[in-house]
Amino acid sequence: MRTEVIAIASKDDEELKRAGAVIRAGGLVAFPTETVYGLGGNALDADASRRIYAAKGRPSDNPLIVHISDFSQVYMLADEVPETAKRLADAFWPGPLTMILKKAELVPETTTGGLSTVALRMPNHPAALGLIEQAGVPIAAPSANRSGRPSPTTAAHVFEDMAGKIPMILDGGEVEIGVESTIVDLTGETPMVLRPGYISREMLEKVLGIQVELDPAIVVKPVTEPLTTEGTIHPEASNDDSGSFASNVVSEGSGSKQQNGESTLLKPKAPGMRYRHYAPKAPMILVKGPAQAVTAYICKQIEDNKDKKIGVLCSAQTAPVYKDASRVVVAGAQGDIVALAHNLYADLRDFDEGDIDRIYAEDFGIAEDANLKEALENRMMKAAGGHIVTVG
Ligand code: AMP
Ligand code: MG
Repeated sequence: MRTEVIAIASKDDEELKRAGAVIRAGGLVAFPTETVYGLGGNALDADASRRIYAAKGRPSDNPLIVHISDFSQVYMLADEVPETAKRLADAFWPGPLTMILKKAELVPETTTGGLSTVALRMPNHPAALGLIEQAGVPIAAPSANRSGRPSPTTAAHVFEDMAGKIPMILDGGEVEIGVESTIVDLTGETPMVLRPGYISREMLEKVLGIQVELDPAIVVKPVTEPLTTEGTIHPEASNDDSGSFASNVVSEGSGSKQQNGESTLLKPKAPGMRYRHYAPKAPMILVKGPAQAVTAYICKQIEDNKDKKIGVLCSAQTAPVYKDASRVVVAGAQGDIVALAHNLYADLRDFDEGDIDRIYAEDFGIAEDANLKEALENRMMKAAGGHIVTVG
């Protein structure tokens, strides 16, 4: 299949009519949103959802987010619309917030991965909103990467992963935010964040006036086995979430033994959070501690591993120190976590070039009060498969 890449300039772009027709006919179109690029199909068409799972290589029990362009569509897709959903939509839609509600019969279970709930979001991007309007149907769309790869933040990333598999990619340039939407489950008594994102729990709590919980099962546990022996660094080096669970993310129901000896039965409520994710091809180790100790540690690793190609993900300020590394990727200025979020997935993809053996990532000094803190810690820990060294 030939994959067309079409630049979209505005919500009224004529090309969106053609893209909408592809969706209505059951085909797939990748499109930009403010978070990451999505791979869209008609959310009401089970065959279109099957095509999405196939193109991504995604397990079909991992549900898709349904994208809408008008709040009235919520009443069509959800069985119950709680007051909390209206308040959050008022405050944050269109925007990077996904709400889990009880699904209406109209939504096929293929789209919801067999669940009786549905994930809804109104994206804040003219191309996305224009596409949904032109399609005339809600659009199911997960991130437009192959399963297990970092989410795409440019049309070129989508092309890398999806060329030949889908007919059309809409190019809206680089995305704005760079990490996926916050997912909040509104079906229980207490709203619960199932995936942290740009909209923090504090922001949700401010609008709702009640406490919002974080799904405890998604906190990635540090892996503490020795990092010096080759082969033990990344027990799950395979870059694929097509069913294999991250070693340190608890697997379904069985309860996994953690390093600290505790056994736990926690199971993430967003099925996608079970899988190893956001990962570059080479194993990555997150180095935490005071800035000077972090740079000293990473320099020593470069020095001690001259036979290996070492990559470093670092700040603009510290980059010159790593002159002996095989690849240095600057994530942004020290402490600029908005830039870190914006660049993270492109940076991780960058390390896939040039046969890098191991990546050291600086702890970016994520400020306590930053709204992206929970999201970034989660993505960095997942990219590192939980491998973390604390120094200093
Ligand atoms: P992506 O679109 O790639 O960001 O992935 C969608 C995420 O939303 C995955 O982690 C899914 O598991 C999660 N998700 C979608 N629908 C639901 C649902 N009904 N309940 C819980 N999580 C969901
Ligand atoms: Mg994804």
